[in-house]
Amino acid sequence: MAVAIEKTDEQKAICEMVRQFADEQIIPNAEHYDHEDEFPGPIVEQMKELGLFGVTIPEEYGGMGLDLTTYAMIVEELSRGWISISGVINTHFIGSYLLMKFGTDEQKDKYLPRMATGEIRAAFSLSEPECGSDVQGIKSTAKRLDDGAYEINGQKMWVTNGLRADLVFVLVKTDPAAEPKYKGMTCFVAEKEPGVGENTGDYAGLTVPPQIKKMGYKGVESTELVFDGYRCPAEQILGGEAAGLGQGFVQMMDALEVGRVNVAARGVGIAQRALELALRYSQERKTFGREIAKHQAIQFKLADMATQVDAARLLTIRAARMKDAGERSDLEAGMAKLFASEAGRFCVEESFRIHGGYGYSKEYEIERLYRDAPLLLIGEGTSEIQRMVIGKKLLERHKI
Ligand SMILES: Cc1cc2nc3c(=O)[nH]c(=O)nc-3n(C[C@H](O)[C@H](O)[C@H](O)COP(=O)(O)OP(=O)(O)OC[C@H]3O[C@@H](n4cnc5c(N)ncnc54)[C@H](O)[C@@H]3O)c2cc1C
Repeated sequence: MAVAIEKTDEQKAICEMVRQFADEQIIPNAEHYDHEDEFPGPIVEQMKELGLFGVTIPEEYGGMGLDLTTYAMIVEELSRGWISISGVINTHFIGSYLLMKFGTDEQKDKYLPRMATGEIRAAFSLSEPECGSDVQGIKSTAKRLDDGAYEINGQKMWVTNGLRADLVFVLVKTDPAAEPKYKGMTCFVAEKEPGVGENTGDYAGLTVPPQIKKMGYKGVESTELVFDGYRCPAEQILGGEAAGLGQGFVQMMDALEVGRVNVAARGVGIAQRALELALRYSQERKTFGREIAKHQAIQFKLADMATQVDAARLLTIRAARMKDAGERSDLEAGMAKLFASEAGRFCVEESFRIHGGYGYSKEYEIERLYRDAPLLLIGEGTSEIQRMVIGKKLLERHKI
């Protein structure tokens, strides 16, 4: 397996296009949207025009039909601009992956063409107020009614794009007594009205409380979802009732594997930007009669940052390429997520230190990165959970 970061001509062209978009549209406007905690609507509209909501959706459904590797490269560029922008497409990408891999033909035809254009957007919901890492501990349920539909009850937490999404891929228990627990879990494709707190009509029983206030990762909303007697037809079970009932946990864990590559790419993007800011500032700022970049202690910081960025990128691309090649990549995706999210945090903090007092000012971009980076240590599985995944997979592969 080649691990070099070489890009194909197509990948080069797309990445150049996205980098230009980030330089011209995202970076100059991120400060405003971040400070106001405002949804970056105009940027999202341009992303639709660029086709970024359909990068991995097959061409037959109106998408670009590109692989995970190319997607990861795009996510790096977007995250270099602002990780909230990659957050807008992250859950959408996971939803489209779930449909492409597990959806029925009817489900694919119904949603993928409109998802490819960004006309409808998707959220992904596992976490609950009382559990995140321990997914099998969720309490939300779906009960089959006499007419064959299901009624969903329960509370979900931390749903990125929870308000503006049209679809939520939501994991619930259809057999709370099942042993092992994961066999009683099912993924529903729950429809809702985008942008509405209190759903009515066909979607009655689903409420979206006001968005959660966060330290960073602003602009993109994170919400709770309250299901209280929400009716969901059986055909909304991912993969259909016959094939999909009780398969939700396995489906969601599969999706988390690509999700981890996606978060890893976000770590690379934010680390890369932190390095760029540090390289620039350290050649502008002078102390003791010379640019701080000329002090060896600062050069060492730059060296460590650049090394982390490259290593994180290599791990990320390796995991993506292995997945694209149809190889088992659970271990590699965990390593990439662990290393790249920690590299993001490390590089942002080093760059912050290099900025001295100015790094603490809202006038400087690094202040936003400093608040944004920690999310990557938590979302899609914490660093502790990644280590558990890596350790378990290592032992499986090297059983004596
Ligand atoms: C901004 C944001 C956006 C999010 N978006 C989404 C989303 O769109 N959809 C979604 O479903 N979820 C989302 N999440 C939730 C996220 O996936 C969870 O927060 C994460 O999985 C951790 O779960 P938790 O917060 O419940 O922490 P817990 O599971 O309670 O963990 C608390 C601490 O204990 C550690 N820990 C837990 N178990 C073990 C163990 N066995 N061994 C060692 N240490 C352990 C954890 O690593 C952590 O340090 C989002 C979170 C945030 C902050």
